[in-house]
Amino acid sequence: MNYQTPRGTYDILPDEIGAWQEMENRIRKITAGYRFREIRTPYFEDTRVFARENDSSDMVNKEMYTFTPGSDSYTLRPEGTAGVIRAFDQHKLYGSMELPAKFYYMGPMFRHERPQKGRQRQFTQFGVETIGVKSPLIDAETIALGIDIVRAMGISSVKVLINTLGDDESRTAYRNALKEYFAPHLDTLCADCSRRYVQNPLRILDCKVDHDHPAMKDAPRLSDYLNEESSAYFRQVLDALDAMGIEYEIDDRLVRGLDYYTHTVFEVQSTRPDSGAQATVFAGGRYDHLVEYFGGPQMSGMGFAIGLERLLNLAVEEGFSVPDTNNADIYIISLGNTGSAPLKIAEDLRHQGFVTEVNLTTRSLKAQFKSADRSGAPFTVILGEEELAKGEANVKCAKDKVQKTVSLEKLAETIREWEKNN
Ligand code: ATP
Ligand code: MG
Repeated sequence: MNYQTPRGTYDILPDEIGAWQEMENRIRKITAGYRFREIRTPYFEDTRVFARENDSSDMVNKEMYTFTPGSDSYTLRPEGTAGVIRAFDQHKLYGSMELPAKFYYMGPMFRHERPQKGRQRQFTQFGVETIGVKSPLIDAETIALGIDIVRAMGISSVKVLINTLGDDESRTAYRNALKEYFAPHLDTLCADCSRRYVQNPLRILDCKVDHDHPAMKDAPRLSDYLNEESSAYFRQVLDALDAMGIEYEIDDRLVRGLDYYTHTVFEVQSTRPDSGAQATVFAGGRYDHLVEYFGGPQMSGMGFAIGLERLLNLAVEEGFSVPDTNNADIYIISLGNTGSAPLKIAEDLRHQGFVTEVNLTTRSLKAQFKSADRSGAPFTVILGEEELAKGEANVKCAKDKVQKTVSLEKLAETIREWEKNN
């Protein structure tokens, strides 16, 4: 039988893992500088955690992996925010944590979409949520954190697109205007847009199929329906970004793929010409009603999620690489009947802090020396029956090409000294 990874999934092989670990380390370090704390929620949740009433997003309507053992219904998490807010409410963290509570998560997400470059069915997101305080400065700080991460990966070719969806009052007014406007065009819009028309007409503006539909151009603009409070809030977000020197473009068609956003929404896109429809590296926004939805108090939150496959791809295109750090410090070769002695000596060396590889096969001396070479170890310990009986071993240093006979008792010590003088 010849099995392959399921469509839209992939293996990260040992040669590739270093880049992932380095990316994860950089992200954690930067995030710690903003005092976010990690939260880990299950990879699946009650389906209702994601499929909320009236949600018109593709993610909820078409892309979920739902399974129904017995009479239960669970869904593999397609995104991180819902699980974090569910946990925030379940454990009443709004009562016990300092507000705003600041969380981050990193791990796999699952969406049943058509796989292509930058779009998988299992992919990895890093995301943050700042919950409990509503402030335009928090919105700006959140965007700054994301930009810092992009920068730390050596990426410079990105742009920030930002928009506001306004508060409930502004959005209701805009929604009604859109309904009136799109009503005569409904029969020429795609089937998804007919659904969006009923559930959330704002999302019609985000349609990838009808993007160039003639009616799109003259659709009403949200900026004309914003009340004063919403405009002022948005202005303050932009002022704070200006103050931090973060450049942005206001894009009044930006509505984002998820339905829970209010006020600030943003997307950070690659400006490289080849990134196409998968140009968005990270995206997020503010949400005013999720905490309440999951049974907590009325509290606002702000967050984003970065697609780590896209982030890493982009970083690699801009020159990100990590050195191979798998080299051994010491390679142990054994000759003749040395029994378990090589293993024991390797253990001792490891406990002394040396990265040690030991030959545990009965291969020829030549083959063993080849492996020693390939391990990158600067020191090779050669254990023969005779030397072993005398409590000794031969040690060869690849750098100065010197070979010495060393007492086993002083093996670690001698190599340590030798290392220092090299
Ligand atoms: P898109 O418009 O590309 O479908 P989205 O609006 O569905 O994105 P979000 O739900 O906001 O994306 O997720 C945040 C980020 O997660 C995206 O900007 C992207 O980097 C990444 N992402 C989303 N879906 C996928 C996927 N199927 N494969 C890889 N990365 C993804
Ligand atoms: Mg999507």
